[in-house]
Amino acid sequence: MEEKENRRIYLDNAATTRVREEVLQEMLPYFRDNYANPSAIYTFAGEAKKAVGKAREQAAALIGAKPNEIYFTAGGSESDNWAIRATAEGLADKGRHIITSKIEHHAILHTCEYLERQGYEVTYLDVDAEGKVAPEALQRAIRPDTILISIMAANNEIGTIEPIETLGQIAHEKGILFHTDAVQAYGHIPINVEEMHIDLLSASGHKLNGPKGVGILYCRENLRLGPLIHGGAQERGRRAGTLNVPGIVGFGKAAALSGETMQERMERETALRDYLIDRVLAEIPYTRLNGHRQDRLSNNANFCFRFIEGESLLILLDQKGICGSSGSACTSGALDPSHVLLAIGLPHEIAHGSLRLTLSEENTREEIDRTVEALKEIVGRLRDMSPLYEDFVKRQ
Ligand SMILES: *Cc1c(COP(=O)(O)O)cnc(C)c1O
Repeated sequence: MEEKENRRIYLDNAATTRVREEVLQEMLPYFRDNYANPSAIYTFAGEAKKAVGKAREQAAALIGAKPNEIYFTAGGSESDNWAIRATAEGLADKGRHIITSKIEHHAILHTCEYLERQGYEVTYLDVDAEGKVAPEALQRAIRPDTILISIMAANNEIGTIEPIETLGQIAHEKGILFHTDAVQAYGHIPINVEEMHIDLLSASGHKLNGPKGVGILYCRENLRLGPLIHGGAQERGRRAGTLNVPGIVGFGKAAALSGETMQERMERETALRDYLIDRVLAEIPYTRLNGHRQDRLSNNANFCFRFIEGESLLILLDQKGICGSSGSACTSGALDPSHVLLAIGLPHEIAHGSLRLTLSEENTREEIDRTVEALKEIVGRLRDMSPLYEDFVKRQ
């Protein structure tokens, strides 16, 4: 068991990441020593209050926002739900049309479906074969009653980075609010809410080496977003509940460290990612890369191996201590192919054979070599057992 643990190769950083040691150390005192409720008046609460203020500054600084534009939440899904539901409710008198894309995370898609059942109309924009939303398509979809545009900054499955600045500009030229699910992008690529015309932005701690169960919603200062949780006066009365002080402190520290290390990390991960992609495409036949070749997250590789099932591939990789994913955690386990792979135009049978490998700065070239060797062996073995592959070979 221990040997397997030691040899584990973790390549599922889009699902979640390890908490950095410095982040953990920063959090610990707020469980043990400084456990006071930061809303309290006595001196003992001062330390916790100060720490939350610092975290708010750190979270804001990473995206060029002001601290009072940051609301702490319980994660990316909550921030997405809040941004969309509160905007829809608040602007219902102005219109009931929302625009998003077909490749959003389920936290967005299922919230939109919920709103459709409440009488709202939602346009789900198509993406091109590499997963990009076309600015012209957004332009065409806008109607007089459009109240919100929500397009993710980077896709969690195929890693494609969307042209957020252009999309945000289009939204603002028409006076429409622009939200972006930046859960995969925040701390990984440069974002500036002013330059990119972003009114609302969601991010999550555990996707940037921070703790799970804590996130932020950035909400532009002059926006009168309704509350998500009714109760106490926390988070300026918009998100009630005693603050998760250790989590918030961890989020702030993770945001600060992500900012400091971003450039170096992107370069290192890009080199390793490209090495992985180049080797897999060169050494395993009938394989394709999903997502944009350049405009993609520096840690994301997503492949389709023809004639095999992604699930079988994952199980055999796991036996070798390699953690990957067949798409998003929400779709694996279900037999439906990923909505993202279908949206980029892949037929069902090919979309089934997908594998997402997402790196971190901790991964080494040696780990990538071992992963490629394992993949070659496993894909070969599965194809040898595949009737589809047998037919295909016969027809050649
Ligand atoms: C992980 C993820 C979420 C959900 O974040 P949680 O903090 O796990 O709720 C939302 N959107 C995207 C793009 C994600 O990758």
